Amino acid sequence: MSCHRIGLGMNSVVEKSIEMFENEEISLNACKKIIVACRNGVYWCDGNEDEAIACIIDCYCGNCLRKIHQEHRIRVDRNRYDVVTHYLCEDCYQHLVYEESILKSTYMLKKRHNKKVRFSDFLF
Ligand SMILES: [Zn+2]
Repeated sequence: MSCHRIGLGMNSVVEKSIEMFENEEISLNACKKIIVACRNGVYWCDGNEDEAIACIIDCYCGNCLRKIHQEHRIRVDRNRYDVVTHYLCEDCYQHLVYEESILKSTYMLKKRHNKKVRFSDFLF
């Protein structure tokens, strides 16, 4: 049987760290590190990662930690993009997902044509 208490406890830490981030007491990176630590913290017991981030899971961008409206959020694979929630705001989506896919297709195209890929190809 899984443990909900560890998730609730970790979630209270996530809530505090988001509050501190919003009050500019801690940096974005510090806040994200705490969130990831809380997500991993549930494994000290048989907990659930989503419960640990319940207070931010569907209303915060997993990259910039800005509050996002439901209609402006875009669901992504959290493990693939190294973000702390399942969602991105439109700006972060553009930056992390869309631009990355352009980089990849440029790279694959050049590779397919056996062209040398230069670093400058990746600059916009
Ligand atoms: Zn964002």
